[in-house]
Amino acid sequence: MGLTVLMNAGPWLPVPPPGYGGIENVVATLVPELRRLGVRVVLASTGDATLPVDELLSVFPDGQFGALQRPYNQVCGISQAHLFGVVRALRERDDIDLVHDHVEAVGLAVLAAMGPDGGPALHTLHWDLGKHPDLYGCLDGGDRVRVNGVSAAQLGRAPRALRDHSVGHVHLATPLAVHAARRPPVRKSGHQVILGRITPGKGQHVGARLAHRAGFDLVLAGPVGPYRRPEELAAAGPEAGQNPDVRYWREQVAPLVDGDRVRWIGTVAGAARDDLVAAARASLFPLCWEEPGGTAVIESLALGTPVLAIGRGCLPELVEHGRTGLLADDEEGLADLVWQVGDLDERECRREAGSRFTPTIMAERYVELYERVRDSAAGPATAPALR
Ligand code: UDP
Repeated sequence: MGLTVLMNAGPWLPVPPPGYGGIENVVATLVPELRRLGVRVVLASTGDATLPVDELLSVFPDGQFGALQRPYNQVCGISQAHLFGVVRALRERDDIDLVHDHVEAVGLAVLAAMGPDGGPALHTLHWDLGKHPDLYGCLDGGDRVRVNGVSAAQLGRAPRALRDHSVGHVHLATPLAVHAARRPPVRKSGHQVILGRITPGKGQHVGARLAHRAGFDLVLAGPVGPYRRPEELAAAGPEAGQNPDVRYWREQVAPLVDGDRVRWIGTVAGAARDDLVAAARASLFPLCWEEPGGTAVIESLALGTPVLAIGRGCLPELVEHGRTGLLADDEEGLADLVWQVGDLDERECRREAGSRFTPTIMAERYVELYERVRDSAAGPATAPALR
């Protein structure tokens, strides 16, 4: 299709990320498929990114994730510095047809503020759109800057001005979905798993309470703030307590983690992550927020593990109650479903992932959107109004 896209993955983690990394994993899934479809990709990431691309742009030599949850006044220059590098590239070169941006708030603000010399831009919203009301409530990117969500439920929460820039939603994808239906079933053990950042919205405290109450084994996998392993957190200095996820862990989750019924194993990656999820009887999502996109949800389906969740945010779009998972309204409802979830057919989960959540499906949809955004930026003569 002859397009060159500047894919802005941001300064926080390299692409692909080492283990945890929601947005960076999405970019790592999308880019190889785009290139297979003929798109040239210039990746703006950190210097240690290893994803094969046509060109890598970086400001920081490595990921700045460790700083992400420090107080704002200490770290607010990081994404600005990264964006400054992106803006310079956009101004200096003439081969970029479109920017596909994934940097929360700052990416959108800078691209909108650049005016006509910014060129066409698509900004993917990966987070809860109840955030940043001051920015989203007055956004004006003209016909040049468009946004997309990662679920319909997420976009439903967007303020009007943001929704006016929307070209719709694109569900997330995982390479695990490719030929998922053909993979042989994995022997299930008794445990359930919660895979994700340990943070209040993901509800690990609810899951741990439920495990004790209902009597099933629960494995928590994922980082606590910047700390990837229990030993790292144990060795952290007093500054660790400034991090809200560390406070959540210490106050609400750790008291329920007895190392037996409920265990925390830190960040898992690669085959170890896949084996852990595939062997689980269910993936638990005891959500306390409106989950916007849910990569871990579709990964679980692709690995043949049904989902047991509070049906908030995108969950009802990704999981069919009674077929690929069970959705409850609250913790009480989850308690009623804990044992039924093991009766679901894991082949249905893998089939669903293979037909809906492959990288090819996601990339083809993004190529369509790139073309719409480019046409819209070229002016009303060539494009029907998007709004
Ligand atoms: N993840 C991982 N190892 C971990 C915890 C999470 O590889 O220990 C990955 C997980 O498989 C998923 C991503 O990190 O690909 C989390 O994305 P999700 O959309 O589920 O959550 P969020 O972006 O909100 O953190």
